[in-house]
Amino acid sequence: MSDVKLVNVTKSFNNINVLKNINLDICEGQIISLLGPSGCGKSTTLKLISGMIDIDGGDILIDNKSVNNIATGKRDVGIVFQDYLLFPHMSVFENIEFGLKMRKVKKDVRAKKVRELIELVKLTEYENKYPSELSGGQKQRVAIARTLAVNPKILLLDEPFSNLDINLRNEMREFVSDLQKKLNITTILVTHDKEEALMMSDKIAVMLDGEIKQFDTPNNLYERPNSKAVANIFGERN
Ligand code: ADP
Ligand code: MG
Repeated sequence: MSDVKLVNVTKSFNNINVLKNINLDICEGQIISLLGPSGCGKSTTLKLISGMIDIDGGDILIDNKSVNNIATGKRDVGIVFQDYLLFPHMSVFENIEFGLKMRKVKKDVRAKKVRELIELVKLTEYENKYPSELSGGQKQRVAIARTLAVNPKILLLDEPFSNLDINLRNEMREFVSDLQKKLNITTILVTHDKEEALMMSDKIAVMLDGEIKQFDTPNNLYERPNSKAVANIFGERN
């Protein structure tokens, strides 16, 4: 079943057409990647899905309903950025709790949920630590837990590993893959790293210059690239 669908989505900034005609259909429980070079429109696509910015044309559907006129907080979408934006003056526990507090969830229910999440992201020993006392990977796990706290239906990850060193990056890729499978949460990962996209995705949308050139399984992108542009990225044939 289709969970997130983009139909002929367009977006311009200052009369520059940043997204030309984006179509995407993502099934429930899948993890897909938006793969492309810097500036091709990946983050803009995520921001449109989350509702942080408005679309110019086309439709975004979540669960088969248009969300074009639905405010960001009501879209059931969680987003994690590469710079974690944790609250520095709050502990791990408080950072994860924050969204639940804002939604006026009762204290005991909040505490239970936060402890579940802390366990899920393997930070049991760290609940009273502050962001400055954590490693990059640990901070990123707090950011993910905080986003998951409000039970989003869709998880959006914008280059979540690009600030991590190579060992940590591999560890976090595995961690997020496992978590995504465990929760079976529909996930869109933005990356400019082909290996990362191949390693983590059910399907990859190859994006260039505001367009999706091909949206397909890793295997099909290798075996049957539909254009020279995609073949240059994936295939041996040119
Ligand atoms: P990516 O995430 O693939 O690197 P972005 O979606 O961030 O690319 O940006 C796509 C293009 O849109 C870039 O040329 C960028 O400069 C431009 N852009 C993004 N956000 C804005 C904005 N708020 N105002 C003006 N231009 C923007
Ligand atoms: Mg970006």
